[in-house]
Amino acid sequence: MRPFKYTEASDAAVATRAVAANPEASFLAGGTNLVDLMREYIAKPNELVDIKPLAMSQIRPTSSGISIGALARNTDTANHPLVRKDLPLLTMAILAGASPQIRNMATNGGNLMQRTRCQYFYDITMPCNKREKGSGCGALEGLNRMHAIFGHSKDCVATYPGDMANALYALDAVVKVRGVDGKERSIAINDFHRLPGTTPDIDNSLAHGELITSIEVPKNKFAERSYYLKVRDRASYAFALVAVAAALEMDGDRIKHARVVLGGVAHKPWRSAEAEKALAGKPANRAAFEAAAEAALAGAKPLSHNGYKVDLAKRSIVVALERAMGVTAND
Ligand SMILES: Cc1cc2nc3c(=O)[nH]c(=O)nc-3n(C[C@H](O)[C@H](O)[C@H](O)COP(=O)(O)OP(=O)(O)OC[C@H]3O[C@@H](n4cnc5c(N)ncnc54)[C@H](O)[C@@H]3O)c2cc1C
Ligand code: SF4
Repeated sequence: MRPFKYTEASDAAVATRAVAANPEASFLAGGTNLVDLMREYIAKPNELVDIKPLAMSQIRPTSSGISIGALARNTDTANHPLVRKDLPLLTMAILAGASPQIRNMATNGGNLMQRTRCQYFYDITMPCNKREKGSGCGALEGLNRMHAIFGHSKDCVATYPGDMANALYALDAVVKVRGVDGKERSIAINDFHRLPGTTPDIDNSLAHGELITSIEVPKNKFAERSYYLKVRDRASYAFALVAVAAALEMDGDRIKHARVVLGGVAHKPWRSAEAEKALAGKPANRAAFEAAAEAALAGAKPLSHNGYKVDLAKRSIVVALERAMGVTAND
């Protein structure tokens, strides 16, 4: 590991100024992703500004919904009574991720910022445009069974690996950020992560030194009918092959609004406008769910080793929507 300077942030202004002033500095939160990347020589900061002392871990109701602190731990967020009651989709998504030990350390801000799990990104002997710009993409013609089927480019076919964000996309969350100039700005969650294009080294829309302070989730009517389905190689402690965050608001026996967000299929959580449009106004039955799944996957572009994700995602969408409506595996 490269030697680094370590400081504990006394307040947000000092933290943002310190990181902004040094292009090789990083914020440190729970450290569950950053420290691993440092050990593997993938991240090489020469300065860590530990933000854990900052007062950014509150979870509280607001006039428009729920405010979730960037430093609240994943475990505390998933189990908070407000989140369990009003945002069960978020609870399910967080609890589908990592392990209890990691969730006890991991923070919400760090979770949004976590980097891809592409194996070529982690292997410094292999080419990877995300790790080293212009070096090539090992996965494009290599082992890409875990990789993207939507939104990829010839420069990067990696997926965003997180679970929590998939639920936040379905719930129209907004990420509050403190800029280097001390001004706050809000980023709609859908604009937070980015597609790789020709700059896969850039994961999201934060400028260097900008600090996530909270995640705001507006009031919604999805609490009663939502479900997070994660399909993976092992029952726990594994990243998604495909995940689905599904939520439905009903008007009588018809679907008024739907949310369908796919995880494990793109460089960012993939909200399917096609599936949501196909569901609007329809009765909540298997035929409608299957039509929505077909619409969602119509534009998929699988790679050499991940064609299986197309059918897996279709079936997962149907199951997630059925479970959102209370249909269980035994029904
Ligand atoms: C073995 C393993 C399995 C895992 N499985 C899953 C899984 O199945 N699903 C899943 O979703 N996740 C999974 N994770 C990832 C885990 O959820 C993340 O590592 C964690 O959420 C990161 O949070 P952290 O606080 O530890 O971030 P850190 O590691 O401290 O930081 C990560 C990055 O975020 C930046 N950062 C942190 N906080 C802020 C902030 N407030 N503002 C701006 N930048 C910030 C840091 O500078 C750093 O670049 C797994 C991790 C491990 C190690
Ligand atoms: S898919 Fe992206 S992260 Fe993986 S090797 Fe290619 S450029 Fe690197």
